[in-house]
Amino acid sequence: MSTPAHSGMGANLSYRSEHTLAPGTLVRVPLGQRTVLGIVQDCSDTPPQGLAETQTKSVQSVLLGLPALNAEWLQLVHFAARYYQRSLGEVAMSALPAALKDLDEAQLARRLKKHASQTPAPHEAQPAVQPTLSAEQAQVLNALAQAERPVLLFGATGSGKTEVYLRAAETALQATDAQVLVMVPEINLTPQLEARFRERFEPLLGAGAVVCLHSGMTPAQRLGSWLSAHMGQARIVLGTRMAVFASLPGLRLIVVDEEHDPSYKSQDGARYSARDLAIYRAKQITDTLGLRCPVVLGSATPSIESWHAAEQGRYLRLDMPSRIGGGALPQWRLLDMNHQPKGAVIAPPLLSAMQDRVARGEQCLVLLNRRGYAPVLSCHACDWKSSCPHCSAYRVFHKFDRTLRCHHCGFTERVPRACPDCGNLDIAPVGRGTEQIEEHLNAVFADVRRRDGSPVRVARMDADSTRLKGSLQAQLEAMHSGEVDILVGTQMIAKGHDFRRMGLVASINADSALFASDYKAPERLFALLMQAAGRAGRDAEFAAAQGVACEMWVQTWHPEHAVFQALKAHDYPRFASEQLAERAAAGMPPLGHQALVRADAKTQAAAQAFLNLAAAAAADLPHREDVTLYPAVPLAIQRVANVERAQLLVEAVSRSALQRFLQAWQTTLLHTRSAPEAKGLVRFAVDVDPVSI
Ligand code: ADP
Ligand code: ZN
Ligand code: ZN
Repeated sequence: MSTPAHSGMGANLSYRSEHTLAPGTLVRVPLGQRTVLGIVQDCSDTPPQGLAETQTKSVQSVLLGLPALNAEWLQLVHFAARYYQRSLGEVAMSALPAALKDLDEAQLARRLKKHASQTPAPHEAQPAVQPTLSAEQAQVLNALAQAERPVLLFGATGSGKTEVYLRAAETALQATDAQVLVMVPEINLTPQLEARFRERFEPLLGAGAVVCLHSGMTPAQRLGSWLSAHMGQARIVLGTRMAVFASLPGLRLIVVDEEHDPSYKSQDGARYSARDLAIYRAKQITDTLGLRCPVVLGSATPSIESWHAAEQGRYLRLDMPSRIGGGALPQWRLLDMNHQPKGAVIAPPLLSAMQDRVARGEQCLVLLNRRGYAPVLSCHACDWKSSCPHCSAYRVFHKFDRTLRCHHCGFTERVPRACPDCGNLDIAPVGRGTEQIEEHLNAVFADVRRRDGSPVRVARMDADSTRLKGSLQAQLEAMHSGEVDILVGTQMIAKGHDFRRMGLVASINADSALFASDYKAPERLFALLMQAAGRAGRDAEFAAAQGVACEMWVQTWHPEHAVFQALKAHDYPRFASEQLAERAAAGMPPLGHQALVRADAKTQAAAQAFLNLAAAAAADLPHREDVTLYPAVPLAIQRVANVERAQLLVEAVSRSALQRFLQAWQTTLLHTRSAPEAKGLVRFAVDVDPVSI
């Protein structure tokens, strides 16, 4: 039996074959008018019950030369499909590189031949010099070597977590044919990390031993990485969440760096959590193969779920509280905006602190989580606003190319010269984005000079400034070389970068997250600000020579807020236990379990009707009493690209109860699609363990 691509929720299909085919073998089979890729699930001498042999079509061809996907991989996709409520065919096919589906026999044979000739061989070069481990790093590695549970590495920013990953990988790779999977949230943002792995392992294992897997690669590149992982030539796979599905027959260590990052949760197709699947995968290898496969989740601000698991003893927590070289963590300065001049964009005390830093040859980072020049344009005469005609959202004003752009559907127009409604010429930006802050800082620092007498250089880094290929790299280089003094940007500047001369980081508008309705907003804000702060003072020697403590500034109207107070005290454990207490009281994850059903439709009424009908139709289902179904509600941004969106929340006390109910509900959901009230429904999807609600 094989699972063809694009099969719906349906069962596997049966085909005939003259040969006995092992489960996991890749085949091509006819489906309707097409030929599609399939994976053999199992192979028996007799046709399935109720099916005569003549009713089955023959397997068209077997992908020769390609080893079968192993039992561990098949088990992983089975589990993911079941747990995240998708069809096995869909999950299995999206886990394989798209380019594999398009190769014909001859092309595949050529690729495999090329791969076989490229078995990595160690370089002549000397292996890179390794730093002496800090006491904390050494302790963690010792504990890790014996750990029987998933490890939560709770390490301060700059405590040397990456070095721990490198050493753990080195140990694992001593076994013949062993492979290591290292996952990071966004690999293209942190080219430094890839460089460190290559530098360390290519001299030992050869040039092809480290491969990447992420969505920024071309289909051909992805296929190359996938094949070399599958064939065992790649020993280290460095990738984003999709890498959790890589076929790694020798997998013996999994690292999930910045495990709290929401990007580990997929937001389309099967909405899987790569972190959670990593835990499952490691356990599977141990339980069924009897082999050790430690899994390390690393973070300075662990997710509340992982923290809870460690508190309960399901994970082993290992701490690295100190920075390498004994450097201090940044001091927090909560700048109370109630006491600053009205309308100040960057308040005077922060500006003068930045000037001092620049004058001493240090760099500053200014974080603002909003790109563009202004989030909305408005006419003061008639109250026109730059709404998107296709979405329930405003279009953002981008000054550099004078456009209004919708960040939800992409709809872009040139900025009108006058108000489209009343003709008033005076339409003005409201609010601020990174572009405007960059402009503002350029103006403020126009007369300030660097130590060498040259003008201060302000740069901006966000999704707009890094769109062109290579531009992110160039911008990071300008930062590392010290060419840039002040970098303004969105959260992408807060992530993972090892800037050496960074003395001050400032978040100038964090308050909006304080009062968001999403219960995870405080957790995300804490992580983002801690991460951002962690960019300062990373070079202990440099910081010491400067003689001034590095700083993290936060402009806020609510300096007393618990999130800020916990940050100021560098007290993540306190923050986590407060969050856990609040969630326990409200039955929220990880103390309760949730799933969302999201519906897209031509009208909001149809989207909600579909959800409410499906809920009503669940009344007599088994396990119904174990869950709470809430009424359907519109999403915060209700309409995107002319599609109306609604969702329905399912809550349960236990994970297994939630799973049992969702299994039972699947058919009902499918049937409800054809209800007359749901006419206009475009699609629906179940999101198990959603990261935002
Ligand atoms: P983290 O990932 O915990 O934020 P990194 O792994 O990036 O920290 O380490 C911070 C810096 O310290 C890096 O520049 C790294 O090269 C350096 N480093 C890490 N471990 C050591 C060590 N044992 N000795 C000297 N330098 C180290
Ligand atoms: Zn107007
Ligand atoms: Zn839009």
